[in-house]
Amino acid sequence: MQTFRSLVLVSGDPRSLALGAQAVFEQLQSAVRQRGLEAEVALKLIGEAGPTAALPLVIIYPEAVVYGPVAPADAADIVQQHLAMGHPVERLQAPERDLGGRLAWLSARRGTLPAEQRILLARAGRIDPESIEDYILHDGYEALGRALTGQTPAEVLSQIEASGLRGRGGAGFPTGRKLRLVAQAEGEEKYIVCNADESEPGTFKDRLLMESDPHALVEAMAIAGYAVGAHTGFVYIRGEYRLAYARLEKAIQQARASRLLGPDLFGTRFGFDVHLHAGAGAYICGEETALLESLEGRRGEPRSRPPYPVTRGLWGQPTAVINVETLANIPPIVRHGAAWYRTFGTPSSPGTKLYTLMGNVNVTGLIEVPMGITLREVITIYARGMKGGGHLKLAQTGGSSGSVIPASLQDTPIDYASFARLGVALGSGALLICDQDTCAVDLVRVLLRFFRHESCGKCTPCRVGTEQAYQILARVAEGGGHPDDAASLERLAHSLEMLSNCGLGQTAAQPLRDLLRHFGAEFDAHVKLGVCPAGACALARRPAVAGILGVPISG
Ligand code: SF4
Repeated sequence: MQTFRSLVLVSGDPRSLALGAQAVFEQLQSAVRQRGLEAEVALKLIGEAGPTAALPLVIIYPEAVVYGPVAPADAADIVQQHLAMGHPVERLQAPERDLGGRLAWLSARRGTLPAEQRILLARAGRIDPESIEDYILHDGYEALGRALTGQTPAEVLSQIEASGLRGRGGAGFPTGRKLRLVAQAEGEEKYIVCNADESEPGTFKDRLLMESDPHALVEAMAIAGYAVGAHTGFVYIRGEYRLAYARLEKAIQQARASRLLGPDLFGTRFGFDVHLHAGAGAYICGEETALLESLEGRRGEPRSRPPYPVTRGLWGQPTAVINVETLANIPPIVRHGAAWYRTFGTPSSPGTKLYTLMGNVNVTGLIEVPMGITLREVITIYARGMKGGGHLKLAQTGGSSGSVIPASLQDTPIDYASFARLGVALGSGALLICDQDTCAVDLVRVLLRFFRHESCGKCTPCRVGTEQAYQILARVAEGGGHPDDAASLERLAHSLEMLSNCGLGQTAAQPLRDLLRHFGAEFDAHVKLGVCPAGACALARRPAVAGILGVPISG
């Protein structure tokens, strides 16, 4: 194998590409060629490199020097001064304040940040996502080989169950139990379906995972297939995820060419293959039964349950529908064991969790942190504090299917058990962090507008309930609140939760309840006093009134 003295990584996520990363990469290639350094310097366009304000990034190993933002015109200086002469180009080095989260492994080397606990993102940002050789060099397909040649399907299943892994798509269902139900179900065929229809506003963790480490998903699906006796997997991927689609497609082709997908894997009699299917942009197709309908070529509407997909799923056969992030946990569990996996997170919620950080914080982007971390720790350590010296007013945990929580809950461990005790939904993995200038009524109004728009219309409680709730909130935000609006929203929340046919309608109740429970004073200020304490709603272009009245702005 050829060895190099320097490894140069260029961030190749969509944001970096939009900012000229491809041109930077090509200019670096050209400059390396001109200097005759091809035999000494390896260049790679990688996936997401981390939440940073300095994209595109150029990272040079072994020194771990980070340049950013880099323009194509800077390539010649980097090659001439750094790679040829050994002097880092100081003017191009990314300021430490612009590097956070995913680049914590670099910051930790510099002693400025604690390192993340990276299981799922261990390779992301370090390997070329389009190279199966890179993946294999970084322990890729080792877990599949180990499972197929050294363990029975029952042993793999037991290992996943013992790990305590729970679904990361929002519902938190134990993954091992789901796989066991599929393994035990009767069927001519069984299927593994990866739910990559990530459509929650603000949630893009699965996309970055697929863009950065696509082979991890392919390997995970093959292991899951072995555990339950399935020989075919489908990835139902959001249509807008073009880069992730392209990289997954390439990964599947490479795996087939390397006989890591197909018949008789690792010389055994087990075969498995993966197929890609792009959705067409409906949020409801992220609901597992609507996804299956869509995959079968029908309109994406949820099915009535039972029967559940584990017994009657795709084409009526037992099917495990599992989210991308959840699947990505399986190879590390098989490689290192359930006991190792349980050293991360909490006893009831083992492992790590991916979050997309957004809002009024200094650093946004993707992070991987242990289950049980608190919101305060996330904001302080990984988001580098509130932007502009503001203070936390509320956070939306988990995208639209999560909860809106007040600052007073920021020391609650973010895990299934702690959140369930408080009636808070963990959701899918987006963390929207908002300061004092955010209005809770306005935020929930926007969420209900989303649910109203995305309701498939199949059942009345959701179709009509989300519309009515939105209309009430819009009226309140415009100064037309009625004294009985809070009671009406409470009734609507109850109907949505109890009568809706699927998770979309049921979770639409959560922000309504959160608003009334945690931000009742703010809601009352809109209805009874005609002011928006945060000065965000249309009615309250009189923000001074809030101060005069001393209306509290947080729950
Ligand atoms: Fe469709 Fe909403 Fe009913 Fe789900 S709850 S089936 S999205 S109308």
